[in-house]
Amino acid sequence: MEEILYIVVPCYNEEEVLPETSRRLKEKLEALMAAGTISQESRVLFVNDGSKDRTWQLIEELHQSCPIFSGVDLSRNRGHQNALLAGLMTAKDRCDMAISMDADLQDDIDAVDAMVEQYYAGCDIVYGVRSSRKKDTFFKRFTAEGFYRLMNAMGAETVFNHADYRLMSKRALEGLAEFKEVNLFLRGIVPMIGYRTGTVEYERGERFAGESKYPLKKMLSFAMEGITSLSVKPIRFITGLGFLVFLVSILMLIYSIVRWAMGETILGWASLICSVWAIGGLILLSLGVIGEYIGKIYLESKERPRFLIREVLEDEHGKADR
Ligand code: UDP
Ligand code: MG
Repeated sequence: MEEILYIVVPCYNEEEVLPETSRRLKEKLEALMAAGTISQESRVLFVNDGSKDRTWQLIEELHQSCPIFSGVDLSRNRGHQNALLAGLMTAKDRCDMAISMDADLQDDIDAVDAMVEQYYAGCDIVYGVRSSRKKDTFFKRFTAEGFYRLMNAMGAETVFNHADYRLMSKRALEGLAEFKEVNLFLRGIVPMIGYRTGTVEYERGERFAGESKYPLKKMLSFAMEGITSLSVKPIRFITGLGFLVFLVSILMLIYSIVRWAMGETILGWASLICSVWAIGGLILLSLGVIGEYIGKIYLESKERPRFLIREVLEDEHGKADR
């Protein structure tokens, strides 16, 4: 079995890391080819995400020097997720399996072997999962783990401690192509594809050169994007809040009637305080209800596939009929 593997690497201003990254990836692919695990047609596919430095020139030079390297140049910077998708969709028609990884080699490339092994064992998606965050600073660990907890609490189900280091089979990539949504949050969408999945644990290292393109600000907007593009839970939250405030208004009603009966109130206070709470609660509740419908429209407008078929059992007769 020699199937074609594409390694998809999004690159944004990565001139500092590309020479080393390309050398190591070439080594890895050649070792796998020599072992007869993957086809000679396997490639490293760099996606240039509108870099402002010499990244694309470097990719072109690599392509000239060795056919193992190929590249895709985006018209402008579209962000990590879109660059990754562009690469995966390009690879889809050319490969049997694709592995996505970052250009800075923070993800241990030796996990590739285990991923390919699991692919041959029948997995369509293999997630690379970080075994520990010992090397991270307390701050990074705290914010990153908080990120996963928040995401899951808000209804965006993601694989814990899995970034975008994963293997996907051609079939899984075709499934991914069925998701037409524009606000694409790959980590949330990929688990929706289904099929047999596996995980491979690895240690995540430091970025060996250059600096992170994901500062805290980008990470927060990434989390926000993830939540709002995957779930309508925040809307449900408003409905719940409205219901709660309305309940409070009933309590306030009872309380103010008691105070009024005891003759301790100024004229007009009881009715005023009740209407403030009741109206507030009703407004929030109605907003939530309207929001629910908007949420439905939102999800509909994504035109997600309702199913993907794993296998159809049919005999020769069934085939001939078609
Ligand atoms: N990246 C990209 N477009 C962007 C930002 C980042 O293609 O607008 C790429 C970047 O080149 C790298 C990957 O996304 O290959 C992850 O970025 P980085 O390593 O800076 O993130 P971190 O590991 O710090 O979270
Ligand atoms: Mg990185």
